[in-house]
Amino acid sequence: MGRRWSFSVGTVKGTAVRIHATFFLLLLWVGVSGWLSGGPSAALHIVVLICLVFFCVVLHEFGHIFAARKFGVNTPEVVLLPIGGVSRLERIPDEPRAEFVIAIAGPLVTLAIAIGLLLVLGRMPSPNEIEQGAGVQGLVAQLAYINLVLFLFNLIPAFPMDGGRVLRAGLASWLGHSQGTRVAAGIGQVCAVLLGVAGLFSNNIILVLIAVFIYFAAGSENGIVALRDITAGKTARESMIDNFVRLHSTDPVATAASALVHADQREFPVVDDQGRMSGFLTRDGIIRALAGPGPDTPIARVMEDIQEVSQWTRMDDIIPLLASGTKAVGVAGDDGRCLGYITWENLMEELLIARALKHRTPAGFPARAQPGH
Ligand SMILES: [Zn+2]
Repeated sequence: MGRRWSFSVGTVKGTAVRIHATFFLLLLWVGVSGWLSGGPSAALHIVVLICLVFFCVVLHEFGHIFAARKFGVNTPEVVLLPIGGVSRLERIPDEPRAEFVIAIAGPLVTLAIAIGLLLVLGRMPSPNEIEQGAGVQGLVAQLAYINLVLFLFNLIPAFPMDGGRVLRAGLASWLGHSQGTRVAAGIGQVCAVLLGVAGLFSNNIILVLIAVFIYFAAGSENGIVALRDITAGKTARESMIDNFVRLHSTDPVATAASALVHADQREFPVVDDQGRMSGFLTRDGIIRALAGPGPDTPIARVMEDIQEVSQWTRMDDIIPLLASGTKAVGVAGDDGRCLGYITWENLMEELLIARALKHRTPAGFPARAQPGH
């Protein structure tokens, strides 16, 4: 998500602020429903409110971004989605104090905004005002209330909420990074279940969806840390797939289709005449190309872009790329030629192998169920 459907609205100190196209769908939707229920002034009110809320979300994200900068971590971009802001930090420091400061900075900005708005208002907003306040005073009251809710919501101790990272940082400072993450992920999943039950009882489908999302996010954070444990100190060349069929960008799609039948691969790196990586093609991509442009089309015209790393890139830097949805990472040798590639499935296999070895029953002893595993 992100890049393809988002566009930049400006850059603040090296961080591009991008807005996702679906955000405008949200604006259109609230505008139209505001108009239908209360006419043009209601539509204007809700659209202005949503824009202000998102401005506050951007400020929240810049809380994280400026805190990260203090620890030498840059943030190339922040993307505004209808569900909130997503900052793409280059990395999240393992050092608990750094993670704590970066994670808490965002909610503190949100809290500061809420307090500032309450001071401007001079009192607590009334429930009636929050529901249907109009004019500038209504906007201030609603914005203060929304920022308070966002503050509390962000402090839910579950990934990917900021509270989950605060909790992990706290636990990691005495349990270590991986054990701390495991415990934090467990607590997060318990919170997600409670949130889901609360959503079911209050008939709040959005709360249920958020709970499901949090539940899986906590699990995947745990998986990412387990992966980082087994690949600690390794470089790309040690984890890459190096026994594979590569396609040539000038070959026709028919060649790719034939490779799909004869090789046990779901994705194929595509190389140019010099053997350098120029893209990759997935099984779905090959099928789509056959049905669309046809078997005679050159592969170069239907392939996807591939992110390339050097063979010496640390796995620590590659795992976040794959975890964020990049389908494959190409590995280049010192001469720039394609040596191999890494996929998420490939890493999952490495994880399964590491786990199997860890729980191995010594030869000669009958296998028995081990308590606690
Ligand atoms: Zn945040």
